[in-house]
Amino acid sequence: MKIGFIGLGNMGAPMAANLAAAGHDVTGFDVAGTTAKGVTAVSGATDAANGADVVITMLPNGDILRNVAAEIIEAMRTGSTLIDCSTVDVDSARAVAAQADAAGILFVDAPVSGGIGGAAGGTLTFMAGGTADAFASAKPLFDIMGQKSVHCGEAGAGQAAKICNNMILGATMIATCEAFALADKLGLERQKMFDVVSTSSGFSWSMNTYCPAPGVGPNSPADNDYTPGFAAELMLKDLGLSQQAAEGVNADTPMGARALELYKTFVEDEDGRGKDFSAMLPRFVARHRS
Ligand code: NAD
Repeated sequence: MKIGFIGLGNMGAPMAANLAAAGHDVTGFDVAGTTAKGVTAVSGATDAANGADVVITMLPNGDILRNVAAEIIEAMRTGSTLIDCSTVDVDSARAVAAQADAAGILFVDAPVSGGIGGAAGGTLTFMAGGTADAFASAKPLFDIMGQKSVHCGEAGAGQAAKICNNMILGATMIATCEAFALADKLGLERQKMFDVVSTSSGFSWSMNTYCPAPGVGPNSPADNDYTPGFAAELMLKDLGLSQQAAEGVNADTPMGARALELYKTFVEDEDGRGKDFSAMLPRFVARHRS
């Protein structure tokens, strides 16, 4: 299959490399000039899209996606497939889907979970929105880049699943960090807290898999001085997307709203920028009840 890959950053480069390693003919473009193993670099998004059976985008945000999509949809051939794996707002996903549809191109919004490790190891989870035909054409590529793909519904449903998941993640990480800080102040050892909570009803991915306390639980960014992993500013971006979506459909999301406020303060007014999103733990430890 001839694949055009646009956006060869931390996630896109290893994803494109995995497609090339599986034997596909992959052409790649990134404005920053980055490349990926086994991928033929070209000098523009249109060049990557020309003659491709599938074009995949992995870009920073919805505005950039809309601009790139406007350019490449014209260059793509009728019946080909556009897969956007970026995390963007639901409206951008639906707008690009409508443009693609008008041009006779199949579109799937397919944001991912699993981070840089999942991208490199080909173990991502894809949450996909689009028609059954569009999902079917993308599925063999999801199977190379990931270990699981879920067809969530029509266009935009993948992004909806992603922002709901990350709204839960932001809130549970904050809850886990504030509970550890409370436990410290109550004189409860962190290891004991982990032993209890990880097998009790307070367990979550934040506690069990990505424990924010250094030296406790499986290896995580906390054991590497909170080097991301998943940066606090990316969590801030995703919480912003979930609140934007909630406003659009008049949904009451008070925990998501509070999580957004806390990550905004952490990134913009405190020392959270450049740290993993689990670095909320030392923040809570250093603070007192106001
Ligand atoms: P990144 O910043 O490393 O990569 C984005 C790439 O897009 C950059 O290399 C940039 O130069 C390129 N780019 C920007 N504008 C472009 C344009 N007009 N044409 C071509 N290339 C362009 O970011 P990333 O970590 O790879 O994340 C990509 C997307 O995946 C984001 O939407 C992010 O929210 C999402 N995501 C990231 C992670 C993670 O752990 N990093 C996990 C899940 C989802």
